Amino acid sequence: MVQELQLYNTLHRNIEPFKPIAAPFVGIYVCGPTVYGEPHLGHVRGPITFDILHRYLLHLGYKVRLVRNITDVGHLTNDSDDGDDKIAAKAKLEALEPMEIAQMYTNSYHAMLMQLNVLPASIEPRASGHIVEQLEMIETLIQKGFAYSSNGSVYFDVEKYSETHDYGKLSGRIKEELLAGSSRRNLEGQNEKRNTADFALWKKADKSHIMQWNSPWGKGFPGWHIECSAMSAKYLGTQFDIHGGGLDLLFPHHESEVAQSTACFGTNPAKLWMHHNMVTINGQKMAKSLNNGILVKDFFTGNNPLLDKAYSPMNLKFFILQAHYRGTLDFSNEALQAAEKGLNRLLETRETIEKLEPSAISSWDVDKWVKECFEALNDDLNTPILIAKLFEAVKQCNSTFAKIESLSAEDIKKLQNFFSLFVFEILGLQKEEKSQSNKEIEFLELLIELRRNAKENKDFATADSIRNKLTELGVTLKDSKEGTSFTIN
Ligand SMILES: [Zn+2]
Repeated sequence: MVQELQLYNTLHRNIEPFKPIAAPFVGIYVCGPTVYGEPHLGHVRGPITFDILHRYLLHLGYKVRLVRNITDVGHLTNDSDDGDDKIAAKAKLEALEPMEIAQMYTNSYHAMLMQLNVLPASIEPRASGHIVEQLEMIETLIQKGFAYSSNGSVYFDVEKYSETHDYGKLSGRIKEELLAGSSRRNLEGQNEKRNTADFALWKKADKSHIMQWNSPWGKGFPGWHIECSAMSAKYLGTQFDIHGGGLDLLFPHHESEVAQSTACFGTNPAKLWMHHNMVTINGQKMAKSLNNGILVKDFFTGNNPLLDKAYSPMNLKFFILQAHYRGTLDFSNEALQAAEKGLNRLLETRETIEKLEPSAISSWDVDKWVKECFEALNDDLNTPILIAKLFEAVKQCNSTFAKIESLSAEDIKKLQNFFSLFVFEILGLQKEEKSQSNKEIEFLELLIELRRNAKENKDFATADSIRNKLTELGVTLKDSKEGTSFTIN
């Protein structure tokens, strides 16, 4: 039986009781998005996972400070410190200011969070607004002998750190392998690092680089890892309760954060490291090369060849919650449609509870059910078990409504309160009215069908007139073998 909240700590590879450093305050840092593109399916799971944690901690009475950064500089297109800055590369491509790119996609990210009913962060710091803090940390690391400058850049000295600390502890990588593999490569003289395991704290910028700042080592820009260490220390202190992120960030990003912060402040920044797993698409990893990415906004319009239809934000959210955050989750249309049915049944039950007629005695145990729901949450936020418990209540409710089971007035009230608590407050689901945009999409689909019928009947004048009228209204149709898709401008 799990009576208090227990969470899996990646650092110890163990589920452990959650004990805040200074209750009732809880400090959480979550690695936020690198804002250089529209949010896609891979961006959905993190915010939803940490939102359940956030909401449950609030319910337990904690005062939570959730810091989620916006990476608007320093995240390179590859992890070996020699790629382009992602934001700068996109800015060049789209002929916009880098800050315009960052703002545009920050707005898209916020819109997605609103649609998914994710509570806002307490602080949302931007990397570009914390250059001073990052420079201070880098200088301390150099003074302490854990970093060195080389040709206008500054690198963290992994070998030096490893003499006294366990580099690889968080990610479970073996430091001897990291160092041995890298020394060998470094002998070939491929870069300016002492060891290829070393990572950039500061990168020298040449004239063509559009985002750069002055530093003691010349003009440059910060490395991606140092921003999270500097901003978490600024807003949560040098040690805080929980650091979260996706499993894909475990190495090198989080391992580097641990090393930098430990070397600088003498302590692992977070007591508990929490990682959510990835979403796959039809059994495959999402990747640009596989062309299997789905933008979040595509789910809501259905306008993507991988989608059979449009799905609502709550449908997408409920689908995510049906898997435990540490397991992989495979996207498929079938799974989303099953989630849609499940969600509707849950939401209908909230109304059924209102209609229940009280009996003198209860034939089922509501207290036991409530206890089991909390146990599921306490057991490392086990949302699939919680949802299974909610469906047990759905079944019992229907039986009670059909007078096969019975509930006292007191138990009906209790059921009402706790059902709402779990579904709306903690899982953060909400009832959705069919939105205007969904109706518009249905009208559009109807017009596309009429146009197809007209074409089949060789009535090309009508088909063309539908297309032209839609173009005037800002809707572009595109015909292909699979059918007709549309874009709304
Ligand atoms: Zn981070």
